[in-house]
Amino acid sequence: VKFVYDFTEGNKDLKDLLGGKGANLAEMTNLGLPVPPGFTITTEACKVYLDSGEEPAALRDEVSAYLDALEQKMGKKLGQPDNPLLVSVRSGAKFSMPGMMDTVLNIGLSDKSVQGLAKQAGDDRFAWDSYRRLIQMFGKTVLGVDGDLFEDALDKAKEAKKVTVDTELDAADLKKLVTRFKKIVKAEAGRDFPQDPREQMDLAIKAVFDSWNGERAKLYRRQERIPHDLGTAVNICSMVFGNLGPDSGTGVAFTRDPASGHQGVYGDYLQNAQGEDVVAGIRNTVPLAELERIDKKSYDQLMQIMETLENHYKDLCDIEFTIERGRLWMLQTRVGKRTAGAAFRIATQLVDQGLIDEAEALQRVTGAQLAQLMFPRFDEQAKVEQVARGIAASPGAAVGKAVFDSYTAVKWSRSGEKVILVRRETNPDDLDGMIAAEGILTSRGGKTSHAAVVARGMGKTCVCGAEDLEVDTKRRRMTVPGGHVVEEGDLLSIDGSTGKVYLGEVPVVPSPVVEYFEGRMHPGADDADELVEAVHRMMAFADRKRRLRVRANADNAEDALRARRFGAQGIGLCRTEHMFLGDRRELVERLILADTQAEREESLKQLLPLQKQDFVELFEAMDGLPVTIRLLDPPLHEFLPDITELSVRVALAESRQEPHENELRLLQAVHRLHEQNPMLGLRGVRLGLVIPGLFTMQVRAIAEAAAERKAAKGDPRAEIMIPLVGTVQELEIVREEADQVIAEVEAASGTHLKLAIGTMIELPRAALTAGQIAEAAEFFSFGTNDLTQTVWGFSRDDVEASFFTAYLERGIFGVSPFETIDKDGVGSLVKAAAQAGRATRPDLKLGVCGEHGGDPESVHFFHEVGLDYVSCSPFRIPVARLEAGRAAV
Ligand code: ADP
Ligand code: MG
Ligand code: MG
Repeated sequence: VKFVYDFTEGNKDLKDLLGGKGANLAEMTNLGLPVPPGFTITTEACKVYLDSGEEPAALRDEVSAYLDALEQKMGKKLGQPDNPLLVSVRSGAKFSMPGMMDTVLNIGLSDKSVQGLAKQAGDDRFAWDSYRRLIQMFGKTVLGVDGDLFEDALDKAKEAKKVTVDTELDAADLKKLVTRFKKIVKAEAGRDFPQDPREQMDLAIKAVFDSWNGERAKLYRRQERIPHDLGTAVNICSMVFGNLGPDSGTGVAFTRDPASGHQGVYGDYLQNAQGEDVVAGIRNTVPLAELERIDKKSYDQLMQIMETLENHYKDLCDIEFTIERGRLWMLQTRVGKRTAGAAFRIATQLVDQGLIDEAEALQRVTGAQLAQLMFPRFDEQAKVEQVARGIAASPGAAVGKAVFDSYTAVKWSRSGEKVILVRRETNPDDLDGMIAAEGILTSRGGKTSHAAVVARGMGKTCVCGAEDLEVDTKRRRMTVPGGHVVEEGDLLSIDGSTGKVYLGEVPVVPSPVVEYFEGRMHPGADDADELVEAVHRMMAFADRKRRLRVRANADNAEDALRARRFGAQGIGLCRTEHMFLGDRRELVERLILADTQAEREESLKQLLPLQKQDFVELFEAMDGLPVTIRLLDPPLHEFLPDITELSVRVALAESRQEPHENELRLLQAVHRLHEQNPMLGLRGVRLGLVIPGLFTMQVRAIAEAAAERKAAKGDPRAEIMIPLVGTVQELEIVREEADQVIAEVEAASGTHLKLAIGTMIELPRAALTAGQIAEAAEFFSFGTNDLTQTVWGFSRDDVEASFFTAYLERGIFGVSPFETIDKDGVGSLVKAAAQAGRATRPDLKLGVCGEHGGDPESVHFFHEVGLDYVSCSPFRIPVARLEAGRAAV
């Protein structure tokens, strides 16, 4: 196998093998862009190393051959004393993992070659600055020395000289610092800083391999659900220098604003600096637009390259570049991360530019992003105390108690507190705190700082670079302009869409995207913002593409109307149990307690008109669209009072010698109906079979409501759904009774009602005998919540709290099977049952109701197995529509 690829040999589609960075460096090289020459060691080599603990035998020779070729091309040798070739050793996995992996610059410098570099560049200061950077980075990332020791030594050197920034240190200062740094390495790592350039390079390569399994890298992968076995590639890239004086510098750029999607000049530039300085926020960067003034030629070239890259990748790209004495070099590009809003805008903009088509546009957004855009925002009308404004780094409205370190953030959030993590700047050590926090606030750093990049990746609210805030992490407090002090635990509100920071808790209002779905804001209207317009268009793309229909889970007219506004094509699940609560509880109690047929019939008679009225309203709201009504499902005891409370009431009445006959009867009933495992007890179709008249009353209510709507010239389309069926016999009995009732109502009203009768498939036995059940069912609705419980054999209410976290942490689940359908287990039953059902009855209608109906990944699965519709809660409908469209592309 080939373990090494020159930049000229790869391309952007080889991310699995070359990592994202390596693949894109190769792509840029082949596009003829100015990339410093180099080569990439593949992820395969890393995997061999991680599996066996040793680098593959052939690797060393292959690296030597590629290094020779590079030296030839550059006309100098790695670390050559009089004219050294220097390289960077850069990690780069398939997925970008910001700040997680390690990169070492200036490999090849030694006590000897630093002199050669100085002479060759004609700049002593530069050479010693590069050398101290090498020892610092190498010491920290390769030899594992605490980075603060170097930082402290650097600070001391600056203090001694009474200067504030590193550029004010001269060659002599830096030379002294190098001596100091070498001592630190010797003391901490127990070895000298290696003077042999090849040894430096080999150790750095190994360190990059090892960093794949660093704790922070593992945490990030778990969080982002990136597989642990991909490994990282290593890029060896000849150095170019941004720290060669004021005509040099380094920067980052986006081809569009990653927050709004607007085209323009976005980025940061730092004169006389090397790569890491920009991201770390060590000195203040200038906006990229300033580069036009500083170095017009490089600026123009950069603009042209940015256009080339956008047209080539047909997407927003982010870029790292360096200018060495007026010459521009490209060091990295990738399709850039963006906010949810920008994703929608950019997708439609690219369609308008003719760069991508509608199908491709749908691949550029996700349901999760749409869900994020539907979050509420801060109320602009609210009385607020704005205390600062930083950079809007990652959108959202976050409210929480201020905490000033990651440890507290994690601790407090575990005990249920919402927290805002406040830092001067974040670094990879803050990752768990960032995950735990509602939002992140920093006083330093720009849009490309660690805090901003990581927060955007996690979809977490972030305001960064709020420079007016004086954050004192040691004393756990910050001072806002005007002198007010915010202590740990004080409430803060931060707006990641505007960058505003408020004291106290600011109330939130619905997002404009929700206002649009609600029909209160219209695309194309003057006030409609671009985001609404973009969402509107993307929804249209999705609706045109999708095969799956989307219905709503709704129990009342109000929810049904909202669902319709959100694009629901019917109701997939109307739960009738909610209709039995409130003042109707008493009627239900009487039904349950009835001793005689007459008593029972009396309570049913009283319930009938109430149920009917519910359905009339629902059919009216959903006129012309299917409404699936599930007959009563939960165990009866849920409609009776709590057993302890009732016992106390009875005991109390007894001791006071008050009459308590009714309470006593109730208590007896509660005892009678008490079940150890109500989830597996008397519920669903079983109720209908043992409580005479219950289901027929419900069927009658549905039929009469439909007849009434018909008489009013409406178009009711009711579907009657029987829950928890395990065998076709259950269904046949209920069906026979229902058919009779429907026939009676039809005869009485003189109309044909066309009521469909079907069943839920939510027990393994039902799924396994779906072929038989389809004989008696006109439709199936997969109840994947119960099906997941019964297939796995665990009760959702109990296990999510007790052991799911442990299961997730240990990787037994990637995600809870209640959130995303377990394709291999539950999913394969769904698939088989769908096929068996259709084999019996080719026009069998198939849907799913339950949480999975609104889950993006599950929607794709239901599309694949050929269901007709998914049903989900009204707020999830837009997400389901979008994902159904994406699934069909
Ligand atoms: P990360 O993935 O953390 O961004 P990189 O490998 O991109 O790490 O490198 C860190 C910084 O060093 C970046 O700013 C990059 O542009 C810079 N850099 C990397 N290689 C070189 C090089 N050969 N010459 C100059 N700067 C470099
Ligand atoms: Mg980089
Ligand atoms: Mg169920």
